[in-house]
Amino acid sequence: MGKPIQSLTVLQNWDCHGCTDCCHEYRVHVTDEERSRIERQGWEQLPEYQGVPLFVREKRFSGPYRLNSRSDGACIFLDPNGGCRIHAKFGSEAKPLACRIYPFVLVPAGNHWRVGLRYACPSVTRDQGSPVDTHLPELREYAQLLEAREAVNGDLAEPPRLQSGQTVAWEDLILFMRAIRGIIHDTTHPIERRIRHALHLIRTCRSAKFDKVRGKRLNEFLKLITPETGREVEHSPEEVPPPTWVGRMLFRPTVALYARKDTGRHRGISKYGRLALLWSAWRFAQGVGKVPRVHALIPEVRFEQIEEPCGPLTSEMQEMLRRYYEVKLESMQFCGGTNFRFDFWDGLDSLFLTYPAILWLTRALVDCLRSEALMRAIRIVDDNFGFNPLLGSRRQLWTTRILASRGEIARLVAWYSR
Ligand code: SF4
Repeated sequence: MGKPIQSLTVLQNWDCHGCTDCCHEYRVHVTDEERSRIERQGWEQLPEYQGVPLFVREKRFSGPYRLNSRSDGACIFLDPNGGCRIHAKFGSEAKPLACRIYPFVLVPAGNHWRVGLRYACPSVTRDQGSPVDTHLPELREYAQLLEAREAVNGDLAEPPRLQSGQTVAWEDLILFMRAIRGIIHDTTHPIERRIRHALHLIRTCRSAKFDKVRGKRLNEFLKLITPETGREVEHSPEEVPPPTWVGRMLFRPTVALYARKDTGRHRGISKYGRLALLWSAWRFAQGVGKVPRVHALIPEVRFEQIEEPCGPLTSEMQEMLRRYYEVKLESMQFCGGTNFRFDFWDGLDSLFLTYPAILWLTRALVDCLRSEALMRAIRIVDDNFGFNPLLGSRRQLWTTRILASRGEIARLVAWYSR
């Protein structure tokens, strides 16, 4: 019997609609057991697989094995009608676990698992399908398989630190998370103000010590301090000073990382090699002229256009963002093992830094309706959040900490909400 699963209390729907995006976009790593299981399925007897390796190493001669790709970048097992050949012939259990779980993310949280979702899947972003709860039977099976595979009872179940030198129990981390989620959930104010309020609460808590404030006392403290911090936040984005030169200089390379796509159908400039990537990094640092197409969906647009005010978000767009942040918060997908082992406060800052990144990209996607652009921007950013190793680097952590400690994330949130 595995650990129980804490499902989402946020209303979120999903069913697979077979768009095959994931089969085109991702490199699926396999364990040794999965590799030998698939090798035993006898694919080499089919003419189309003769002489074609089913697996390749991530690097030329080293790194983990992954499923091989077709010449168009799609999974080698994707059939011409958009179905998975392994699934069709041997059933879902015969596929690699990564393919079965997607777009769910199971987050170990001490004595239970929490359910997260990847908004890179269009059916998640569009909220299409049945409530997440209806998928609990499969999720229980995946959790047991993961427990057996990753031995989650050990290291992964340890709570992430609040910050350097400060650790609290999982139960207390969840109290902090609920306080932040409560702010995002309360629709009295526009979403941008709620995000600034959450950032202010994080900053306030960072400067406090919680060695003796735990459990019930912590709950009372959070109930007291949450409305207090809300009153200290500027009412409208126009009242917030614009981001400083330092804030902009650090933000643009961060956006480049969130917007980047290096594999699949929407691969951007990286297909032209390292020099092209270096050139695009330089352009992002300068922030003038044409935006390099680090993702194929970015149309021709100039940096200057993106900085122009474009009015508040519609209520439908705000709802999309509310759902996104509530799911990320409740799943605890922003810290620990599912986000480069970031400490709790660092993980939250990195999560809320995605807000100006999403709005920046929404402004850049000028070739579609604004609500469609927001949906695409969420998908692009979330594809990288917690997965692009460059976002987990020490350098990026340092960038996020500087932006947070100088109040630049809140300024960026307000700036791109004008
Ligand atoms: S991207 Fe989502 S909807 Fe499309 S095939 Fe994958 S899981 Fe299904």
